[in-house]
Amino acid sequence: MTAAEAGASVLILETAPKSYRGGNSRHTRNFRCMHHGPLGPLVESYTEDEYFADLLKVTGGKTDEGLARLAIRTSEECLPWMEERGVRFQPSLSGTLSLARTNAFFLGGGKSLVNAYYRTAAKLGVEVEYEAAVSHLELDNGKVVWLEYKKGDQTHRIAPKAVVVASGGFQADTDWLARAWGPAAKNFLIRGTPYNRGVVLADLLGQGIEQVGDPTQCHAVAIDGRAPKFDGGIVTRLDCVPFSIVVNKNAERFYDEGEDVWPKRYAIWGRLVAAQPDQVGYVIIDAKSLELFMPSVFPPIKAQTIEELAGKMGLPPDRLRETVDGFNAACGDTSNFHPTELDGVATSGLTPAKTNWARPITEPPFYGYSLRTGVTFTYLGLKVDDHAQCSMGGRHVENLWAAGETMAGSILGQGYLAGFGMTIGTVFGRIAGREASAYANAV
Ligand SMILES: Cc1cc2nc3c(=O)[nH]c(=O)nc-3n(C[C@H](O)[C@H](O)[C@H](O)COP(=O)(O)OP(=O)(O)OC[C@H]3O[C@@H](n4cnc5c(N)ncnc54)[C@H](O)[C@@H]3O)c2cc1C
Repeated sequence: MTAAEAGASVLILETAPKSYRGGNSRHTRNFRCMHHGPLGPLVESYTEDEYFADLLKVTGGKTDEGLARLAIRTSEECLPWMEERGVRFQPSLSGTLSLARTNAFFLGGGKSLVNAYYRTAAKLGVEVEYEAAVSHLELDNGKVVWLEYKKGDQTHRIAPKAVVVASGGFQADTDWLARAWGPAAKNFLIRGTPYNRGVVLADLLGQGIEQVGDPTQCHAVAIDGRAPKFDGGIVTRLDCVPFSIVVNKNAERFYDEGEDVWPKRYAIWGRLVAAQPDQVGYVIIDAKSLELFMPSVFPPIKAQTIEELAGKMGLPPDRLRETVDGFNAACGDTSNFHPTELDGVATSGLTPAKTNWARPITEPPFYGYSLRTGVTFTYLGLKVDDHAQCSMGGRHVENLWAAGETMAGSILGQGYLAGFGMTIGTVFGRIAGREASAYANAV
């Protein structure tokens, strides 16, 4: 849109059919936005420094501060920019997610956002080829000279003046994931599009375009174990971990379920479950916690006793009973329990401890969910500068820019902050569009 608004003629090559356009973006719900005062649906303020501190916490400092701050600062002007291009936001959220101040939620979700953008793009004269799978960008002397895409049986070759790559990560190629992660990765579920297979990424990295991000890192969360292999989306997410105990298939706990509020912690659980036998975990809660979280689309498994629940979930009943009893005995005074704040209601003398929201699991019926690792995106990507431009051998590639997930590793070295993917995509998409159109209009 930005390129078309600047007068460039724009063609989108989308490998998916029209109904699946928009990749992972169609699965999103919100974007994280800095603001000095109330902005659109966002309440109070969320400063650059607080946003950056939140990012530092989840990335453990593995971030490029310059690019991160650019994304954060620019997010404030993106919200009205998005509204001007048809995106609608829903009123600020209260309740289980604690995000009313930091994250603006799209009315109708990412699918509505994608449809609004395509409508606006069409009005601007942007052309779209669906089922057009880009397979190769030919580089010569620091420049893309042509690119090839396949549509049906036909192979097409075009020579654009400028190229913006925005084709996501490689997580849908599970063979590649298994090479990076080991065979356990074959048990992972892919939360989003089956079309982000890293074809363009591999093509460019293979030709020496500068890369960024650890190839073994991906954003993975723990999702409902009954989710489909691809495209389960947000409805397979489970937010109940802080109010539960989580055990492996031997009915043993393995991590502090109450480490932090869920939006800041949910990204680590995919990895934790991936490290358990058969890459599976089991969440156990009781009746008093059932209404405290957003459930997945699948109903929980329900039983009147812990032993019955264990039987229904395929867990060793005696062992689960022991684990629950041990946990319950380690719980103390729960009068300060507060579901949306770090309440310090902790276990004592238990390993691993549960450091917040530790209430005994005693009230039938008891509920359980299985958990599997759901991969959201991979971190290996194209290294860009603050103009979203790619490089090779220490020099800019004259007419190649990258935006979104495919360059997000330039900012996110590890971890994830809810809503930051769309911030990176929006900020760097606009920059790439501006730079690519300026170049194309000038040559
Ligand atoms: C379930 C889920 C929920 C999420 N929720 C949020 C959220 O609420 N907030 C947030 O900020 N982030 C969220 N994310 C992350 C977010 O989706 C990404 O950060 C963002 O969508 C990346 O946008 P993108 O344009 O880079 O990639 P995508 O939106 O994935 O688009 C990539 C496009 O490239 C196409 N493509 C791939 N290969 C080729 C090829 N060879 N030729 C042609 N086309 C190709 C794909 O078909 C796709 O349409 C979520 C992700 C998932 C999976």
